[in-house]
Amino acid sequence: MDRSRMSKDRRSKDYTDGVESFIVFALQHSSSKNSIKCPCFQCGNMIFHTSQKIREHLFFYGIDQSYHTWYWHGEAAPSGPPTNRAERHDKVHFNDVDSTIEMVQAAHDDCKNDPELFQTLLEDAQKPLYPGCRNFTKLFALVTLYNLKARYGWSDKSFSELLRILGDMFPLNNELPLSMYEAKKTLNTLGMESEKIHACPNDCILYRNELNDASSCPTCGTSRWKLDRTRTKKRKGVPAKVMWYFPPIPRFKRLFQSRKIAKDLIWHAQEKEFDGKMRHPSDSPSWKLVDHRWPDFASEPRNLRLAISADGINPHSSMSSRHSCWPVIMVIYNLPPWLCMKRKFMMLSLLISGPRQPGNDIDVYLAPLLDDLKMLWDEGVESYDAHRQELFTLRVVLLWTINDFPAYGNLSSCVVKGYFACPICGEDTYSHRLKHGKKNFYTGHRRFLPCNHPFRKQKKAFNGEQEFGSTSQPLSGEEILRKIDVICNSWGKNKITRGKLNVKTTNCWKKKSIFFDLEYWKYLHVRHNLDVMHIEKNVCESIIGTLLNIPGKTKDGLNSRLDLVEMGLRCELGPRFESNRTYLPPTCYTLSKVEKKVFCQTLSQLKVPEGYCSNMRNLVSMEDLKLYGLKSHDYHALMQQLLPVSLQSVLPKHVRHAICRLSFFFNALCSKVVDVAALDKLQNDVVVTLCLLEKYFPPSFFDIMFHLIVHLVREVRLCGPVYLRWMYPFERFMKFLKGYVRNRNRPEGCIAEC
Ligand SMILES: [Zn+2]
Ligand SMILES: [Zn+2]
Ligand SMILES: [Zn+2]
Repeated sequence: MDRSRMSKDRRSKDYTDGVESFIVFALQHSSSKNSIKCPCFQCGNMIFHTSQKIREHLFFYGIDQSYHTWYWHGEAAPSGPPTNRAERHDKVHFNDVDSTIEMVQAAHDDCKNDPELFQTLLEDAQKPLYPGCRNFTKLFALVTLYNLKARYGWSDKSFSELLRILGDMFPLNNELPLSMYEAKKTLNTLGMESEKIHACPNDCILYRNELNDASSCPTCGTSRWKLDRTRTKKRKGVPAKVMWYFPPIPRFKRLFQSRKIAKDLIWHAQEKEFDGKMRHPSDSPSWKLVDHRWPDFASEPRNLRLAISADGINPHSSMSSRHSCWPVIMVIYNLPPWLCMKRKFMMLSLLISGPRQPGNDIDVYLAPLLDDLKMLWDEGVESYDAHRQELFTLRVVLLWTINDFPAYGNLSSCVVKGYFACPICGEDTYSHRLKHGKKNFYTGHRRFLPCNHPFRKQKKAFNGEQEFGSTSQPLSGEEILRKIDVICNSWGKNKITRGKLNVKTTNCWKKKSIFFDLEYWKYLHVRHNLDVMHIEKNVCESIIGTLLNIPGKTKDGLNSRLDLVEMGLRCELGPRFESNRTYLPPTCYTLSKVEKKVFCQTLSQLKVPEGYCSNMRNLVSMEDLKLYGLKSHDYHALMQQLLPVSLQSVLPKHVRHAICRLSFFFNALCSKVVDVAALDKLQNDVVVTLCLLEKYFPPSFFDIMFHLIVHLVREVRLCGPVYLRWMYPFERFMKFLKGYVRNRNRPEGCIAEC
């Protein structure tokens, strides 16, 4: 039969003939006239349809071009390699069976002292699930089921029940374990160990190394053990605070023991031509810096380059609870961009239990991880590469951390509020205090303009003065280290023990960050990343809050106007006090009720592709003209695209333009492919945009988030595309961790056990 007709243009006569002959063939060989497997691209021989429907599908979607031998429709099965999707499924299974055997091999090291156990494991990995079963071995079935359990958070009880029923369902003599307990026994030998490390409830110390056997904290004297209800007796064995540590070294080793992953891990070293576009951190100057400075590290492409992220999560879904536990998550940038932010490759390495945030004392908890990282840099560990089938010494470098702004402060040890809030400007931060608003504001973006720019000479529109200042280069890591070397750290929440040792030695730093223990840390360009996700969200929130004048969100108001008067700026906007009410004159960004309505209506009637953002109609309230319950991703969509659209017919032109410029900036900043040549223009444009905003909006509008925008381009230039360096993937991972919480009293335990 001539199959080539099926590869012709779908509008051609040949294709029509081909479809007809296929249907005739399928009908002849099928037992039922109304259910034939549809070979179209959508159905891929997985779904049954009538012949008429199949005809439609074949014209609509086209046939799966790899389906040459119609063995799903009665033709003799092919003997060549598998061709279409349905059979690829089987193939995948076999690959996975291989990988379970690999997994057992990988567990070999851990089982050295129990050869018998290893033997049974290996048997399980090869034994079919039931006599005659082709697709599943005993171990593979168990691992697959257990993965499902973990992914969807089934309870142990439901899993036991399922195993029991499946056992009845499968043919006699099947090998499925009968209960969760039995399954766990097998799986535990494959699993990765985690360590529980006790900690002082005031975050002073960890009970490890020389303090391993101590029973109370040497710094604050608090007992290691939990007190019982009466608060008098100590319950020995029940620690007051615990941290889980998931040692990264065996996990890194395990990665290389899988052939496929080991191959992916050297993706970054593949020959590729640099065409002036950055697509991955490996194209970035930060990456190249490591290559140049430490050529022996760079010569081994299997050496890993990591980033870590830490953030607090509230394991209880209710907002009322203030419990906060801190996972520390690691990602590997050796992987290709489509894998490196996948959940499978994100590694939870620390879990600091609550209820309080560790805050600046997070260094205490990072110590075990940093010890391992230091070892992995200095000496490395011997690992086996399954792809090239050889032993090699694996070394690891930490490139940067990714955090929201408060956590940025905790990890980098920078001050993130007050007069020196900008960690990049440091002591040059341009900040003044609002007398009435009782907050600091951060303007002065004219300093970033070229020195002959006309804005620099304008007085009235800005802060009443000309501006001829310039900005200094951000401090390098070495300079910072020189400044903070004098600080002697003291940990703990207990204020009495916290001496007044740190008497104003520095303005911008609170401690000497533990990351400087890593020998290479001070040489890196960008040690901590500003998180574009949070900046974008906060900026968008302020803009919308101010435009719609939402109480609590707006940055405009009586105090802000009083401050304008105080500073002698735009006096026509000052509040007028009439007999028994205060009147705030409208400004250029004030929306009338009609305009607000237009804005909200445009938003709520927008039709967007599915999955683009939440349904805006549910977020916009037409009665009180507000937006409710926006998630950070909705702000992202607003800022990237929707804001310019919905502002189209409201606001004076110049204000609208300024906001649209900001929106275009974020859009360009977040592109997945960074055009290096265009970055200078992007930076110049955003400085002008910020100056324009300064002209129209009051000083109270400019919180630190607006200022940080000015530094974002620098980090893109040095570290590569934003989408591999922001918090979205981490937040998703943390949401996924939260799904594990079963016992509300011990939320961290539930996460660690899974
Ligand atoms: Zn179909
Ligand atoms: Zn203590
Ligand atoms: Zn700054």
